[in-house]
Order: sequence, then C-alpha cells, then structure tokens
Amino acid sequence: MICVRVNDESYSYDIHSLIKAFYPEEDIKITPMDTDKNSDSDMPEFLVCANKNNISIDLEGRSIRNIPTDNSLYEDRAAYKSELKRQIYLALSEHTGKELPWGTLTGIRPTKLAKTCLDNGMNSNDAINHMKEFYLCSDEKACLATEIAIREKKVIDDIGADASGYSLYIGIPFCPSRCLYCSFMSYPIAAYKKEVARYTDCVKREIDYVASAFAGRRLDSIYIGGGTPTTLDADSMVDLIGYLKNRLDITSIREFTVEAGRADSIDEGKLRAIKSMGVDRISVNPQTFNEDTLRLIGRKATAAETIRAYKLAREIGFDNINMDIILGLPGETMDDIKYTLDNIADLKPDDLTVHSLAVKRGSKLAEMLMDGGKITDTDVMLRNNVIDYDEAMRLTQETAASIGLHPYYLYRQKNIRGNLENTGYAAEGKAGIYNILMMEEVQDIVALGAGTVSKRVYRGDMAGRIERCDTHKDLMLYMDNIDDMIERKRRLYDA
Ligand code: SF4
Repeated sequence: MICVRVNDESYSYDIHSLIKAFYPEEDIKITPMDTDKNSDSDMPEFLVCANKNNISIDLEGRSIRNIPTDNSLYEDRAAYKSELKRQIYLALSEHTGKELPWGTLTGIRPTKLAKTCLDNGMNSNDAINHMKEFYLCSDEKACLATEIAIREKKVIDDIGADASGYSLYIGIPFCPSRCLYCSFMSYPIAAYKKEVARYTDCVKREIDYVASAFAGRRLDSIYIGGGTPTTLDADSMVDLIGYLKNRLDITSIREFTVEAGRADSIDEGKLRAIKSMGVDRISVNPQTFNEDTLRLIGRKATAAETIRAYKLAREIGFDNINMDIILGLPGETMDDIKYTLDNIADLKPDDLTVHSLAVKRGSKLAEMLMDGGKITDTDVMLRNNVIDYDEAMRLTQETAASIGLHPYYLYRQKNIRGNLENTGYAAEGKAGIYNILMMEEVQDIVALGAGTVSKRVYRGDMAGRIERCDTHKDLMLYMDNIDDMIERKRRLYDA
C-alpha cells in the first residue's frame, strides 16, 4: 500500500488514478495532509500539495518538485488539475524511471481530447503535438488518438449529430452462462426463461415512453446489447423489434446492431429473423480461439462453433460482422494470442474489437484473485500468464491492418491489464456508428432495460454538460419498479 497525503481532497480522484497507473499492483490510500502518521507503518508515503502559488510533491521523504504557479491558473480548476497531474506525472516518472503510454490521461476517453483539438481548428500535426506536450502521451498513442479522432469526426460530421439526433440502446440481461471475467448484469437464460416475456413487456413500456418523448427527433442508431440478446428465441426477438418499429420512426437510422455475442445462442432461425427485421450489424464474439481458455473462462461455445456461426451469418447475408477478442486472458501466452489473431485473419470480420482484460469488481475472476488460494489453478494461471502487452497490441494492429481494418474507436477502463486500451478496428464504411456516438458523447443515448444508463448531452448555453440516469441492475427490481424507471428518464430528458 502507498499512502498519499494531500492538502486539497477535491483532486483525490485524479491523484489516485494517476499514482495507481504507475503502481498498478499497489493499493493507494489518499488521506488529508494533517492525518497522524502511524509511526509503526513502513508504507511508502507521498505528499502532494496543491497551493495557489505552487505545487509541491515529496516522494518517500524526498522533495521531487516545487513548481511556482500563478493565481489565474489556480482559479481555472480544469487547467490547474491538468497542471497538477503533469507535475505528479513528471515526479513519478523521475522517481520510478517509468513512462506511461497515455501520459497523464487516466480517463475513459482519450480520443475525445484529440477530437476537441480538431474541433478547435488544429490540424492533425498540431493535435498530435498537443497530446504529446500537454498530456505527455507517447508518440504512438498521440498518433493513434488523433487518427481515431479524425475518423470519428468524419462519421459524426456526416451524420450531423445535432440536437435533434439520438440513439437507442436496449439491454437484454440474459446469457447462456456467466463468463469468468464478466461484471455486467447477466442472468442464466435457462433459469430465467419464464421472466423473458415480462421483461420484454417492461422494455416495451419504455419504448412507449421514447415514442412520446422523442417524437419528431431523428433516431440515428439502435444497439441491442446485453447480456446476450440472442438468448431470446426468434419469435421473442421478432416481437420486440417489431414493436419498436411500430412505435418509433426508424427510417432515419444509419445502423441497427444486435450483439449476437456467443455462438451457443445463435442459430439459423434467429439470424434470419433479425435480418428480416432490418438488423444490419451483428457481433459474433470468440474472445479467444483457444479451447482450454474458453473452458476456463466459462464460455460454453467452442471455437469451431463460433466459426460455424460466423460463416452462417455470412451465408445469410450479414455484411457487417464484428468480432471481440480479449488480450491477457488467464493462462494465455503470446502463442495463444497469435493463434487467435491467425483465426481472425482467416475469417476477416468487418469490425474487430480488441479488449485488454480488466479485472472488474463483481466478476468471478476478481473474487478468485481476492481470495487467492481458493481456486489455486486459476489464480496461478492468471498470475503466471506472460503477455508482452505492447507486443500483443502491435500484433493486433498488424493483423487488423492486414485484413483492411483501421482503428476507429478507443476507450480505457479501470484495472485494465497492461494499462492500455480497448480499440475497435473497422473496414472502410463499416465503423460502428453507435460505438462512436456513445463514446464521443455527442448526442443523447436513451438506454432501455435493466442495468442500463441513459445519457443526456446538453447543447447551447449548457454545452459540455452531460447528465445520466440509470435503471436498477437487479432484474426483479427493474421489472417491479418499471414506472419509476420511466419516471427517471422523464426527469432526465424533460428537465
Ligand atoms: S456473454 Fe458477455 S454479458 Fe454474458 S456473461 Fe459473458 S461477458 Fe458477461
């Protein structure tokens, strides 16, 4: 554990995130400067003083920085926070000898900053330099963020993501089984089959709300995710999508995605059904093509079944198929990653999303790691896996490029292994529009179903403000309180 004493607790979150990025294996404890030091404690101690006239940083009893600042910087909180993070970064970099690929950026959306540069009239070189000089990103990440921002900007400008546009997300919280690393809300379909009709009725109630509250507004994209939406049978999917099409004007949509997700939920009838309802983009997610790993992480479909499902979707006519893979799965080596990438290169999906494993609270994996010895095999396997993340990222970029896919969206997560990022690659014209609109926070996203979060993006005088409202994660609570779930949305969007 590292103890960090601060004189201004309002910066605690940012200080914590940045120090954690340098010391991913350590717990970081932030305490007020005047807390008594436990004299028995031999834990390393850092002091961070954010004052009006200077920023000072002591690491383990050594003063590393003492930088004068002026009052005007202190009055501008965002600018002062950026400077404070820069100084902490420089101090820690000097202290540890490490550099972080994303520099001072610890948030989810680094590309948003690159896009802001472009929106403010910078050319790509200036944007790259700004990412490097101001946020201390590596050359590679500054270029990547800017390249993605250019692609995203093109899609957003093309859609004209203005005040009238919005997108719709529907969450289906059922899965064939629970994956080891999953922290989403997911209920095993076999045990919850009898709740499906009541659940979809609740979603329809929410659709009714959208039909009245968003009448006259342009619907740009629809994304049905989860969970695994294709755990619903073909009739239920047709019924739900049919209801949606009857109640909402979907003539303006640019993209309609259904996350088919797991091959053990896909069959020909379902694929034909969703295709006939206008779905034009699906995901068939292997995560890995290594059978041992698939068994270990609790995904019941074999690699061969995923390949079959993918080929079936192609035969049926889907021409925009995404595949997700995860780097850093328990027990996987660089050879396993190469094997997965070779399969991806053979299959040539239109869109490839590459995640680095994140050990998330609420996942079985996090429980195992917290409880070390209990499931020793997995624990050992996870701890022993030897991935060179930089090399793995390089290989995925190379594979994506070899099949004509370019990076088009990117986000980061807490506790992500290798301190890297998740990147979406797509063929020309196949970039996931919903992913871009959602990640860049350029329009309202209305999210229906249990455990979903709706977003309102303000404009005009209130531009830059974003408000959210969620729904109950618990399935029963969501259904029992559906009136309140709708009321929450009314308060968000009608205010
Ligand atoms: S398929 Fe996705 S949502 Fe379902 S358990 Fe696995 S990771 Fe979670």
